[in-house]
Amino acid sequence: NKSLKDADKEIFDIVESELERQTYHLEMIASENFTSPAVMEAMGSVFTNKYAEGYPYKRYYGGCEFADKAEQLAIDRACEIFGCNYANVQPHAGSQANGAVYAALLKAGDKILGMDLSHGGHLTHGSKPSFSGKNYQAFYYGVELDGRINYDKVMEIAKITQPKIIVCGASAYAREIDFSKFREIADAVGAILFADIAHIAGLVAAGEHMSPFPYADVVTTTTHKTLRGPRGGLIMTNDEEIAKKINSAIFPGLQGGPLVHVMAAKAVAFKEVLDPSWKDYAKQVKANAKKLGEVLVSRGYDIVSGGTDNHLVLVSFLNKPFSGKDADAALGNAGITVNKNTVPGETRSPFVTSGIRIGSPALTSRGMKEAEFEIIANKICDVLDNIEDTALHAKIKEELKELASNFVIYNQSTY
Ligand code: PLP
Repeated sequence: NKSLKDADKEIFDIVESELERQTYHLEMIASENFTSPAVMEAMGSVFTNKYAEGYPYKRYYGGCEFADKAEQLAIDRACEIFGCNYANVQPHAGSQANGAVYAALLKAGDKILGMDLSHGGHLTHGSKPSFSGKNYQAFYYGVELDGRINYDKVMEIAKITQPKIIVCGASAYAREIDFSKFREIADAVGAILFADIAHIAGLVAAGEHMSPFPYADVVTTTTHKTLRGPRGGLIMTNDEEIAKKINSAIFPGLQGGPLVHVMAAKAVAFKEVLDPSWKDYAKQVKANAKKLGEVLVSRGYDIVSGGTDNHLVLVSFLNKPFSGKDADAALGNAGITVNKNTVPGETRSPFVTSGIRIGSPALTSRGMKEAEFEIIANKICDVLDNIEDTALHAKIKEELKELASNFVIYNQSTY
């Protein structure tokens, strides 16, 4: 019964360092967030010891009576949040959730139409290095030079390619996705409509982004981005036949035992989302991203699509002498964590890129509002305006450390 500190000092020290990094660096990766201590407590619970192959009340192992209750609560809460009839809370991650959708509804070699990775789509939407691009015949739509999806063009591509499934949803798209337009496109070509709301799920849950229901046939999300839960995946549908196929595709199709501790933590996070205060959080996430975009534009930076409807902004350096990689590194030295990202009309390689993606969900969870985002956005511009001035980066890092200390998210006993 040793504590982590006594059992393994090396890992304990690494965890301590990570806590310090998360506390004093400003986390602005659009896909990251800070879960509550309650979510982490469930994740670190005795459920990590339990095998529970199967589904609630239909297991292949004994002793599942409490695992059943935890998984069922997670399912019921997910259905309540998103207003759907069936949910599978077992996917270990978003990629597994997406893999299960394809495995359930397609045969190898079937055609899929998804958003191009370099235009903001995800690897699992048909990208060549992913199983989705290897096992299926993938076609792509993208964004126009104005950074927006042109739905007429998607319709044209769908009519030419005749996909069995159309994937809508993105990893780096700052504008609202119109699921009703995707439904029209899917209907025009007789395709299944699959919405991957991994990035925007927390906003959808609050009514701050259009819901994929009733338009999509099947919906997936990660649980750890704007939804602020443990790392994991979730699949939802209103169609009983699809639900049955999805369940078999997850288990025994792709996974063995579910992570019961993570499903319990998903239930805890979903309870937080069902609280009325969630709406305030989601509104603030959007307001903070908007402020960020406004300051960047006022300081002469080019934002893809000119602004944002959601939790992120994509900054383009196509007209600058430095790359996304340079900006990512300079901001990192100034204590601001972002990621380099390709932009429409990209001229550099995916490892270098001409843009960065900046998100508001994590800092909003720390309680930061527009006033703090205005300060941070100006510091970002100061760094970018002086990309080679390492002394300035170090000075900004110290200043931001002070700002961060006023918004402590975890104290020493919460991990
Ligand atoms: N779908 C989208 C749109 C994503 O952005 C991501 C992750 O970045 C995923 C799926 C995959 O999630 P995971 O990293 O949990 O496999």
